[in-house]
Amino acid sequence: SAKFHGRDNFKLYTEKMGQKAQEEVSLERRIKQAIEKDEFSVAYQPKVKADKTVVSLEALIRWEQPELGLISPKEFIPIAEQSNLIVQIGEIMIDKVLGQLSEWIDLDSRVVPIAINISGRQLVAEDFVAHVEKKLTEHGINGEYLEFEITEGILIQDIENCIAVLNQLKALHIKVSIDDFGTGYSSLSYLKKLPLDILKIDRSFVNECDSKTEDAEICATIINLAKNLSLLTVAEGVETQSQFKTLQKMGCQLYQGYYFHLPQEAKHIHHLLNQPQALSVS
Ligand code: C2E
Ligand code: MG
Ligand code: MG
Ligand code: MG
Repeated sequence: SAKFHGRDNFKLYTEKMGQKAQEEVSLERRIKQAIEKDEFSVAYQPKVKADKTVVSLEALIRWEQPELGLISPKEFIPIAEQSNLIVQIGEIMIDKVLGQLSEWIDLDSRVVPIAINISGRQLVAEDFVAHVEKKLTEHGINGEYLEFEITEGILIQDIENCIAVLNQLKALHIKVSIDDFGTGYSSLSYLKKLPLDILKIDRSFVNECDSKTEDAEICATIINLAKNLSLLTVAEGVETQSQFKTLQKMGCQLYQGYYFHLPQEAKHIHHLLNQPQALSVS
């Protein structure tokens, strides 16, 4: 009967909900352990100019859980964002990245700026900028070696506060980019108000920019918009030469994606940055 079905569905539904909530609790517990046991590491993915020179890197968190293996940030970052754990994870990333920069500087290695993904909750946390400044001093690193990638969501929710925070970061010479640009709801007036440096075109538009008219239009529009606002554009998730060439014709300045480089561990990046080819056209 309908009644029976209804009840059965409800039961299934609550069981599923319960299961999901339980999984999240257990993942949250494992994240706490991971913080205590220092289970996180950093992969670095280069951003290149059209001549393939590496101009900066993006730091991407990696977590190898002893029992579960590699867990994607797409899975655990949203859970961490529900609590203050994201602030702790953010601090760990800042510390690791600054530590890496200072190690490379000590080795007289070629060094390029490194971008860190910053969650909304972290950006607007009371002492975020003070913490960053303290860490820069501690590691002896100039802010011009840091870049922060933020998504549109937080900028819209808390615009006045974000303008203030971004201005403080600018005073430290830290660059700021909007990540996954085009997927949120930024209005043009917001873009004009915010002290930004870079727009990163979301991978979903890059993916078919060479085959779908609509996606090509969106990429071209973002590139022109950025140009008019004196911002740089990075195309993320470039996987083919055809995508690269299409974006290059549109005037995109920087590129990131598997076509150029995968995210890699620091020692491979060190090697890449310091081989002579890294500087020349290929
Ligand atoms: P994102 O910041 O947009 O980073 C780009 C993601 O696309 C990365 O996935 C990267 O490995 C992947 N990617 C790069 N090139 C290509 C490509 O050519 N094709 C495809 N299909 N994918 C490509 P990853 O490392 O799994 O990170 C996923 C997301 O997790 C990031 O998206 C970012 O939002 C978040 N995330 C990663 N690390 C951190 C972190 O330290 N803190 C915070 N708050 N979020 C992070
Ligand atoms: Mg990013
Ligand atoms: Mg992105
Ligand atoms: Mg993306």
